[in-house]
Amino acid sequence: MIRAKLFKGLTTGTMKMRTFYDDEKVKFTYPQACCYCGTTEKLSIDHLIPRIKGGEDHSDNLVWACRSCNSSKGERDLLDWYQTKDAFPSILLLRRYTKLVARYCDQHALLDTLLADAIQQTLPFQLQMLPYSFPALNTLQLWVPVRKQECNH
Ligand SMILES: [Zn+2]
Repeated sequence: MIRAKLFKGLTTGTMKMRTFYDDEKVKFTYPQACCYCGTTEKLSIDHLIPRIKGGEDHSDNLVWACRSCNSSKGERDLLDWYQTKDAFPSILLLRRYTKLVARYCDQHALLDTLLADAIQQTLPFQLQMLPYSFPALNTLQLWVPVRKQECNH
């Protein structure tokens, strides 16, 4: 019901997706750490949607990642990478990623396209990986806890 209202609002223009302001605040509010594993060691800048796939060199698409997570993720889709690790992203990371996907779909007039048709197109992300169900609430994390050790993937 909420999704239907949101979809109608977004497609008719009566509702707008919020800006990345709150997502950007996370970068300044939380300690500087890998957004995937929480380490503060050997940090680099990662493109949430890989640049090689069309991800932008824009702060909305840039997150802190340790070299280990960055190279493990590589050019893969965020959600695909999490699934192979049998893990689920933090809520705030998923929110940022979902906004990037929604903005791309809006800018490329894909919001009215059926999922079955959209996934046939070459997109910078894998729409079919967007979650339909979520892990138990008590296992979800708002943001990954900060750790002082290096990641050992
Ligand atoms: Zn990491």
